[in-house]
Amino acid sequence: MTDCIFCQIASGAFGSLIYEDDTTAAFRDINPLAKVHILIVPKEHIPCIDECGDMSLVAHMIEVARELARKEGISESGYRLMINCREDGGQTVMHLHLHLLGGEKICWGPA
Ligand code: 5GP
Ligand code: ZN
Repeated sequence: MTDCIFCQIASGAFGSLIYEDDTTAAFRDINPLAKVHILIVPKEHIPCIDECGDMSLVAHMIEVARELARKEGISESGYRLMINCREDGGQTVMHLHLHLLGGEKICWGPA
């Protein structure tokens, strides 16, 4: 059993997935920074964007984010996609994830 929390969530172990396909999963952030705050992750354990070799996977994660934005009704009002990388980028969970933030005006920069 992996001790990576996002590997566990992405496996469906907690029944919290709002999207899933062969390579990718999505779930709501436990500490939302906006009305809509969803995390899109690869099912494979990739620590950060700098260690991701398959950029088609990242393109797919972005496509999933666009689809979820449409489902959440925030495509027209707009949203922000964000990937933090390692310490100076503010990454706290070392499993690659794409933040989808929207449903209200997003303030620029880390809190
Ligand atoms: P980072 O700072 O690494 O870019 O973002 C990590 C995000 O994961 C944070 O927004 C944090 O609230 C979220 N997070 C951390 N642990 C959990 C968890 O166990 N479940 C969920 N759903 N989100 C988590
Ligand atoms: Zn992981």
